[in-house]
Amino acid sequence: MALTAVKGFNDILPVESGRWHFIEQTARKVFELNGFEEIRVPVLEKTELFSRSIGDATDIVEKEMYTFTDKGENSITLRPEGTAGVMRAFIEHKLYAQDPIAKLYYMGPMFRYERPQKGRYRQFHQIGAEITGVTDPLADAQVLNMLTAFFREIGLTEPTLQINSLGCPECRPEYRVSLRSFLEEKMGQLCDDCRRRFAANPLRTLDCKVPGCAEATAGAPSVLDHLCGGCNDHFATVRRYLDLSATPYSINSRMVRGLDYYTRTTFEMVTMLLGSQSAVAAGGRYDGLIAQLGGPAIPGIGFAMGLERVALLLTNQDFASRPDLFIATMGEGERDVAFSLMDALLKSGIRVEMDYEGKSLKSQMRRADKLKAYYSVVIGGNEASSGKAAFKRMADGFQTEALLTVAAIQVLLNTTEQ
Ligand code: ATP
Ligand code: MG
Repeated sequence: MALTAVKGFNDILPVESGRWHFIEQTARKVFELNGFEEIRVPVLEKTELFSRSIGDATDIVEKEMYTFTDKGENSITLRPEGTAGVMRAFIEHKLYAQDPIAKLYYMGPMFRYERPQKGRYRQFHQIGAEITGVTDPLADAQVLNMLTAFFREIGLTEPTLQINSLGCPECRPEYRVSLRSFLEEKMGQLCDDCRRRFAANPLRTLDCKVPGCAEATAGAPSVLDHLCGGCNDHFATVRRYLDLSATPYSINSRMVRGLDYYTRTTFEMVTMLLGSQSAVAAGGRYDGLIAQLGGPAIPGIGFAMGLERVALLLTNQDFASRPDLFIATMGEGERDVAFSLMDALLKSGIRVEMDYEGKSLKSQMRRADKLKAYYSVVIGGNEASSGKAAFKRMADGFQTEALLTVAAIQVLLNTTEQ
């Protein structure tokens, strides 16, 4: 039997890769404009990194991690997200020593053992960005504006930005108490996960996708009514900056996120088009994380977007790259001329294809069509000896005579509308 890929692990085929490049290149462009630099960290980390940062009572750590014991009896985990590894590297290499403000971005595969479905896979890809060292809400606003700019640049007006504040170690415990006393009455209606997490992580209940839990928590107290003075001011300033930049957003006080390290601002880019895979990008502030991982007390904020989900939203656009010219040949004798012309054109950056196998003219033209070449040219004995040929614009059959030289073909491609 032929071998297949592991369930939930996808091949990104050439028909898809144009779309992926567009997303990746747009992210690089927008992030680098904002002063972010790329960091590349390993896909494997010590398991402890994730249990200490993401939190033991989270879906990711409880159920979704690819954790193995290696040959040296060490527990290692395929990274389920990017922030923990980036912050581990930030601490390990003392990137803060020169300047605690670092603006970093990353892209690459992440791994979670989830039930595969549209927009949810076991290997998926994130593009993420982090700013460390800034407590001021300016960092929150810049990150949110940058995320908004990314979606604008790729041409999507959907998804929309939702923001919330989860408070800080000062005020969140108080909110937890009030939420717990509300939930106590509803215990019977909650799912097993929520009941089990009632003590350690009651906020998760607000975000639980089980319909009974959503119903039970409809009238739950809002975290925004329990913020301390500092968190309240911070959130108000984030909102003021967003208003100053005319960045559209709405407030969703039930958004809690599935990772424990978040403090204050949290946010999601939400789509209506992917069912329950509605979060296309998500993130927040993590002022305690770096210290929690053994580094200095440096705050941070960041986000990650799911590349597959962004790609699913872009499906009605064509990103296939097309040859400028297809060179067909009549016979064996012209193949040297055609090959030399192709070689010269490629060297000057013109994308050319030619027949590889001495096929019939008809089948060569079929291939030119299939490749969606902008132009085709047939080189026979006459063309080879005169150095001139008729170039056919494939879209409408319009023909122009031109010399078989790089310069003439460049002019043809530039002056005729493609
Ligand atoms: P969800 O609520 O859909 O499970 P999440 O809260 O687990 O998302 P994060 O951990 O915040 O997501 O990850 C950030 C982004 O990564 C998500 O917004 C989503 O676009 C993407 N993502 C997360 N898990 C997966 C997955 N299993 N497959 C594909 N993309 C994913
Ligand atoms: Mg999840």
